Amino acid sequence: MHTFAYARPATLAEAVALLADRGPDARVLAGGTDLIIRLRDGTLAPAIVVDLKRIAELRPGIREEEGRLVISATTVMTDVAADPLVGRHFPALAEAAAVVGSVQIRNRATLAGNICNASPAADTAPPLLVYDATVVAAGPGGPRRIPLDDFFVRSGVTTLARGELVTAIELPIPARRIGAAHVRRTRRRGHDLASVTLCCGVDEAGLTRLAYGSVGPRPILVVDDSGLLADPAAPAAAKAAVFERMFAAARPSPRSMRASPAYRLAMLRVLGRRALATAIERLAAGE
Ligand SMILES: Cc1cc2nc3c(=O)[nH]c(=O)nc-3n(C[C@H](O)[C@H](O)[C@H](O)COP(=O)(O)OP(=O)(O)OC[C@H]3O[C@@H](n4cnc5c(N)ncnc54)[C@H](O)[C@@H]3O)c2cc1C
Repeated sequence: MHTFAYARPATLAEAVALLADRGPDARVLAGGTDLIIRLRDGTLAPAIVVDLKRIAELRPGIREEEGRLVISATTVMTDVAADPLVGRHFPALAEAAAVVGSVQIRNRATLAGNICNASPAADTAPPLLVYDATVVAAGPGGPRRIPLDDFFVRSGVTTLARGELVTAIELPIPARRIGAAHVRRTRRRGHDLASVTLCCGVDEAGLTRLAYGSVGPRPILVVDDSGLLADPAAPAAAKAAVFERMFAAARPSPRSMRASPAYRLAMLRVLGRRALATAIERLAAGE
């Protein structure tokens, strides 16, 4: 591993100043489950690593505030998966957080780090997109709110500007009832990223939100307001046509070691149908 400076600021202002000053030479450290691997293998070589864990304003926590759930940037997957408010309002997010890596990984890995790492395979990205999450950033210009769908650019790249870091992820508490499910396909649970990761949400008005990852350079969100997918009486052929439109943005890489494009595209359809069926069942059951 190459040598680098290590900073553990006590305030958000200090962290922002460091990041603004050092620009691309600086890297934020949260749980380190992605970052440390990349420092070790040399694919990242920052001059300074800025650890967020001592910053008072970013202490781990999940709170309800003015109709939103606010998940602070240092909150780990274990706590997201077990939180009663997440379980009540955003169960598919709890489901996704609970399958990230292993127990050891989930005890270190933060929700914000999963998003900031911007892997197309990030398991929490699809439920966060389905639930219409917003990323809250702090930077030299003050706080900024970024809809999650505008946050991802491509693998490893987000729309965070120089000096910005993520302070929280916010989820609007749904005004209408939603049934949702997260599903994924992986070669080895606990050790490998998903070959396909997907979340489907259906609300009581028939709106279907589908988000999927690991089939292109960034996670994708598609919305269908025809009501067809949520309608148990709709003809199968009509539903299949809607699904095909929703999956049209998938562009799996032919160079991936995990799975061929054909396999991923086939699995996308299988998982999409399964997640939709579960989402509809959960909506009906009021879960
Ligand atoms: C064995 C193993 C299994 C894994 N399995 C899965 C899996 O099943 N599903 C899955 O989705 N992921 C998996 N991962 C990846 C990883 O655990 C997650 O992406 C994790 O959530 C990253 O969070 P972290 O806190 O560890 O981030 P870090 O490693 O600390 O940071 C990741 C990146 O985000 C940046 N960053 C972190 N926090 C912020 C912030 N607040 N503001 C700005 N930038 C920030 C860092 O600079 C870095 O570039 C696995 C990793 C390992 C090692």
